[in-house]
Amino acid sequence: MALLEIKKFGCPTLRKKATPVQDVTDEVRQLVADMFETMYEAEGVGLAAQQVGFTERLLVLDVRPRDPMSEPLAFINPEILWTEGECVGEEGCLSLPEIVGDVKRPAQVQVRALNENGSVFEMTLDGIAAKALQHEIDHLNGVLIIEHFNAIKRNLLRGQLRKLQREGKKQAPGLTYV
Ligand SMILES: [Zn+2]
Repeated sequence: MALLEIKKFGCPTLRKKATPVQDVTDEVRQLVADMFETMYEAEGVGLAAQQVGFTERLLVLDVRPRDPMSEPLAFINPEILWTEGECVGEEGCLSLPEIVGDVKRPAQVQVRALNENGSVFEMTLDGIAAKALQHEIDHLNGVLIIEHFNAIKRNLLRGQLRKLQREGKKQAPGLTYV
């Protein structure tokens, strides 16, 4: 396993729309393992491929720090089948260090994806897992939490974002091991 560089706001990869994984190969499984390791090292609860310079449609999730009954999961080619309810909660992002803000999302989601063995599974998520999954699926679509913030909040963050952006622009857009 290896640690990957986490791309910061300003790195163009974060704005790319993911492409579906054609085959769940050993390389894909290796990437999933490296993404888990990178996420744990950064103390995050979710990580999308774009955040490590990859553009395949996959993400990893482990919300056990917030929900001890959950389990670590990889979602390859995830699609949301339906959503229900609404909840507002504070979110942060490994690609936007020190930035947090309220994001409104559906409270419950039904998702279909492939697991690391390439088999299809469906599950219903709520609470922190639903929130984190939707946050990571946003990444797969090139969307960041700041797009969910209101205009006042975005204005307040302008200086901080500009600083981050300078750092992110210096990062290589592709996969980098650290
Ligand atoms: Zn994020």
